[in-house]
Amino acid sequence: MTTIFAKIIRGEIPANIVYQDDLVTAFRDINPGAPTHILIVPNKVIPTANDLTEADEAVAGRMMRVAAILAEREGIAASGYRLIINCNKHGGQEVYHLHMHLVGGRPLGPMLNRAA
Ligand code: AMP
Repeated sequence: MTTIFAKIIRGEIPANIVYQDDLVTAFRDINPGAPTHILIVPNKVIPTANDLTEADEAVAGRMMRVAAILAEREGIAASGYRLIINCNKHGGQEVYHLHMHLVGGRPLGPMLNRAA
């Protein structure tokens, strides 16, 4: 299975990659919702959060750790930020390659639109 994110990870299509290691790749979102909007993605295709297995615990942990590293690097660790993983239709997932959004750089407001 391949995804647009897999192509970015392999360098087949351009992206603003800000971090890459043996388990994860991080790049700036093409349509940012805040001054910092970075996607942290497993190098292997895991379609959704539902598909995480015990064998993926290292990669899931690395995603969290890299988020903290990049937040520090972006200068938003102290002011604060939000980490988001959307899953399936109700979660608003658009790309079926697991990814964590690191969003910050301005006050983000309430987490959910409670009117929906
Ligand atoms: P989600 O709704 O959680 O699946 O989010 C998918 C995100 O991927 C959106 O915020 C898009 O703006 C972003 N995105 C889609 N294509 C690209 C791309 N080629 N490079 C960077 N970000 C992308």
